[in-house]
Amino acid sequence: MVSVWEKETFYAPQDIIIIGSGFVGLWSAFYLKKRNPGIKITIVDRGIVPTGASTRNAGFACFGSLTELLADEQKMGTDNMLSLVEMRYRGLEKIRAVFSKKQIDMEMCGGYELFPTDEDFLEEDLMEQITYLNHLLKPIVKKKTYTPADKSIRGFGFSNINHLVRNNLEGYLHPGRLTRKLLQTLQSSGVQVLNGVEIKKITEAGSQVSLESNLPVPLTATRVLIGVNGFAKQLLPDLDVEPARGQVLVTSPIKKLPWKGTFHYQQGFYYFRNLGDRVLLGGARNIAIEAEHTFSQETTSLIQDELENFLRTVILPGKQFTIEHRWSGTMGIGQEKTPIIRELSPSVFCCVRMSGMGVALAPVLGEKMAKMMTA
Ligand SMILES: Cc1cc2nc3c(=O)[nH]c(=O)nc-3n(C[C@H](O)[C@H](O)[C@H](O)COP(=O)(O)OP(=O)(O)OC[C@H]3O[C@@H](n4cnc5c(N)ncnc54)[C@H](O)[C@@H]3O)c2cc1C
Repeated sequence: MVSVWEKETFYAPQDIIIIGSGFVGLWSAFYLKKRNPGIKITIVDRGIVPTGASTRNAGFACFGSLTELLADEQKMGTDNMLSLVEMRYRGLEKIRAVFSKKQIDMEMCGGYELFPTDEDFLEEDLMEQITYLNHLLKPIVKKKTYTPADKSIRGFGFSNINHLVRNNLEGYLHPGRLTRKLLQTLQSSGVQVLNGVEIKKITEAGSQVSLESNLPVPLTATRVLIGVNGFAKQLLPDLDVEPARGQVLVTSPIKKLPWKGTFHYQQGFYYFRNLGDRVLLGGARNIAIEAEHTFSQETTSLIQDELENFLRTVILPGKQFTIEHRWSGTMGIGQEKTPIIRELSPSVFCCVRMSGMGVALAPVLGEKMAKMMTA
């Protein structure tokens, strides 16, 4: 039983309930409030703090490495690849427009892609690809995106690397601080955030949607947004969204770390960046693709050992370090790489399947969702 006071405050019918307080849910609420400051919004998340990918990622503020975009172009065609790049690039611009660099530790310091010695990349082919993609991306980014950077390999101290290509326009941020800033902004504009609430069933009755959860009475709203990304199958079993676990580690401080920025390897299956003078490394999902399709947020020795091996043989050969943090998070992927933005009924909407790109995509998708849901 709930008290009349609880009923009239926390359980009061809302205009919009958002399920999931990851970047998609938070940016959607941000733009909904911007469009209509008086709108009543509740965001629910089953975590005591948000426990999706948004607070467990690597914090790359990126829109695609050279080989990632070329592979995307092969799979989805030039126009679709470019529209995804544009969404990511505009998303990064939006983050910078709303929050200061200092608030979210954002730095557009540039990134790199590494090409290993055991893969036969000819310098001429790389140069051709760089010129080709720079030309394609120019109308979106207005600048030169990629430049060859082989001359940095030695200074960076990498081993078993033949080529390096720099992306001049990417960088990194602190996903925890971005989440907190978004939450603070939303709460100060009147958005109610309820943590520890797991939505189990969504029922539509007339013009109301009722949400059953672990709370003693259902929450109700006129419209609902499902923004649970990799967990979508648990609420929407028919959608093409599979959980994909991403595992990460962070080293102890490295004496005189000779590089700074974001780094991609093997079409993004490995990624690392500096975190001050520490190294954050994630990936290696490709060595256990099936096993990593899991909702579990444990780490495994198979992947963690592979990551450590990569540190010792490629990134930090000969350097002393220990591993200080390990964790994993859940991405949402499917047959296609594009996000699923859908009106499931006039009252229920979803925005899921971020395919490991949600930091940059979420502001643009949030704005789209706000338009769709208030049309
Ligand atoms: C290890 C790792 C590294 C990554 N690195 C990067 C990167 O560097 N750059 C980048 O752009 N992207 C990266 N990503 C991807 C990016 O983090 C995601 O695409 C993005 O955060 C997804 O945001 P979201 O809001 O859609 O989902 P999430 O952040 O996953 O949020 C979904 C929320 O829904 C909640 N939820 C789920 N089910 C329910 C329910 N039934 N009831 C209530 N709440 C529920 C969860 O608790 C969760 O908080 C990475 C992801 C991982 C895992």
